[in-house]
Amino acid sequence: MLKGRTAIVTGSTSGIGLAMARAYAREGANVVINGFGEADAIERERAAIANEFGVEARYSAADMSDGAAIAAMIAGVEAEFGAIDILVNNAGIQFVAPIEEFPVAKWDAILAINLSAAFHAIRAALPGIKARRFGRIINTASAHALVASPFKSAYVAAKHGIAGLTKTVALESATFGITVNAICPGYVWTPLVEKQVPETMAARGLTREQVIADVLLHAQPTKQFVTAEEVAGLAVFLASDLARSITGVILPVDGGWTAQ
Ligand code: NAD
Repeated sequence: MLKGRTAIVTGSTSGIGLAMARAYAREGANVVINGFGEADAIERERAAIANEFGVEARYSAADMSDGAAIAAMIAGVEAEFGAIDILVNNAGIQFVAPIEEFPVAKWDAILAINLSAAFHAIRAALPGIKARRFGRIINTASAHALVASPFKSAYVAAKHGIAGLTKTVALESATFGITVNAICPGYVWTPLVEKQVPETMAARGLTREQVIADVLLHAQPTKQFVTAEEVAGLAVFLASDLARSITGVILPVDGGWTAQ
């Protein structure tokens, strides 16, 4: 479905981003993965994508909190592949604490990685995408782009910001064959969620089991975690030719969370 396309997925050494990169490669796209982690493990993932799916797979170590590094990543991929067809702004971090105790450095990092990184990547990639009159920009937002939860001030602010950025860029690029959408997962069991369990235990005075049942799955009427593969399936559809009329949408994949 995506043969000959080139996709960059930021924050794809783990979790949802890795599932997206693999799903794009399965559809024949060349992929650029990005994110932190142990060098050997990243190289194994990159090689597995290239070998399993017979596509070009590259790795960029660009730090999504650094605007200049993001612009350099975009320029490098354009130079190497000749085009960027699919840009997924997915890298993200979380921190859970009451706002009075929220570390300023965590606020700054979450706003930089979860929101400003998408601005920098879109700003750098859009001229090339516009010139070719085809592009798919997908931002991984969250159910927290639509509703809030206590103790997640930075994350909720950044994700609501991503929703606004998505709609704005969708309008600016609508006549260029470009769609810009945000996917809003509910809870997906990834390292990002696993890490916030102890922070939520502390912030709310709960046990691990209570956090999982009464905080995380409480939000989701299905009482099940969303899977990274389900989110990736939507990312593939949004990148396809058939999705050309879907733009500016903030689309939940959240087991009914935001229907409440
Ligand atoms: P994850 O921790 O598994 O993956 C996060 C990825 O981002 C990793 O590859 C990590 O290395 C990368 N990353 C972090 N900081 C970076 C930086 N400065 N520069 C480059 N890469 C960086 O988490 P995930 O759950 O897969 O999260 C992916 C996205 O999905 C995030 O935007 C997150 O907010 C969003 N999301 C997750 C859930 C969930 O329940 N897991 C729900 C809604 C939205």
